[in-house]
Amino acid sequence: MMEEQKVTIKSKYANRLDGGYPLLLKEAIVNIHELKEEGTVLKLVDEKGRFLGKGYYGIQNKGYGWVLTRKDEPVDFSFFERKIKSAIQARQSFFDDPNTNAFRLVNGEGDGIGGVTIDYFNGYLLINWYSEGIFRFKEPILEALKNSLEFKGIYEKKRFDQKGQYIDDDDFVLGERAQFPIVVQENGVHFAIYLNDGAMVGVFLDQREVRKSIRDQFAAGKTVLNTFSYTGAFSVFAALGGAPKTTSVDLANRSHSKTIEQFSLNEIDYEAHEIRVMDVFNYFKYAVRKNIKFDMVILDPPSFARSKKHRFSVAKGYKDLLKEAIAITEDDGIIVASTNYAGFNMKKFKSFVEKAFKEMNGTYKIIQEHSLPDDFKTIPEFPEGDYLKVLFIKKIKG
Ligand code: SAH
Repeated sequence: MMEEQKVTIKSKYANRLDGGYPLLLKEAIVNIHELKEEGTVLKLVDEKGRFLGKGYYGIQNKGYGWVLTRKDEPVDFSFFERKIKSAIQARQSFFDDPNTNAFRLVNGEGDGIGGVTIDYFNGYLLINWYSEGIFRFKEPILEALKNSLEFKGIYEKKRFDQKGQYIDDDDFVLGERAQFPIVVQENGVHFAIYLNDGAMVGVFLDQREVRKSIRDQFAAGKTVLNTFSYTGAFSVFAALGGAPKTTSVDLANRSHSKTIEQFSLNEIDYEAHEIRVMDVFNYFKYAVRKNIKFDMVILDPPSFARSKKHRFSVAKGYKDLLKEAIAITEDDGIIVASTNYAGFNMKKFKSFVEKAFKEMNGTYKIIQEHSLPDDFKTIPEFPEGDYLKVLFIKKIKG
């Protein structure tokens, strides 16, 4: 059913594939000009013709496709069904948890199918396709899902360029259409989810443990500044953990109503909290001018952002962002520093913290560290897949 093509991998990269590295880099492929259509199954061999594995051709920012297996087995319907069944099995504890019904079901290469993620939102599934190539396997993947779990309906996002192609107006795939918002629960807290409204659906599931930690260990009695707050998910958890006042700051107009919606779903009086639509960098200046300080400051910026006055990139700007936060955090207060940028690791991230405090003549202690939760399954052979880095930093003085 699926066409196969032989592809030769340069020896240097063949060794990495033997070691379990799942990404097919452009520079690894000898006969790159022979690649035909995205979605073709590739039979990977080294320069001596030795079999390495099978993968598929699909162009993403990261590479030219993914290795799917290192065995000489058919990549067919039953192959995808086995992968999906075992991914679902690995999430059994989430299905059993009465207080959480929003989690990741299939996490790309972590579950053996690079280029696609599938999330579960209280009975509805959301598939993110990251290349035209993986999108070509839509049919076997949908079949595998139908055979592997009960769900009400499926939505999808095509997160690749579709030049001149028809774009679905609402991302609905099959089953029953949802009434939006879908209300999900996370550790007993409610969130409104919209699967028909752009790439961001209302909450980032990978921060689940960070939110829980803020609520259960840090928020009681504390004033909290939540920067780049989006729908205010961290603020909601802080408020439920006993923070008498949170301040959520985001540039996007819609963040205001979306934050009110999340507060209201959880019966929190949103009028006791502050929600500001403004540039975070202007808010820092404002807070300094007014001498406003916080017991907790949450930093979770996008990897790249552009506003009227600022151009921010996590790689270049995080140290300065930390300095702004340090300036308005009380002594003994906590800075929650987060990034989902895959371009540097935890060690480098910590070096930004070190530099920022040094330049502020401050002292600090890292009291908690988080990476991706278990449902965002990663593999040791692909450490860059474990992109999330979160530090809870206690400001001692500075
Ligand atoms: N921390 C959020 C997710 C942040 S998503 C959460 O856990 O849910 C990134 C957000 O940053 C977007 O909502 C975007 O509108 C906002 N943003 C980007 N640049 C900004 C800026 N300069 N000032 C304020 N918000 C900004």
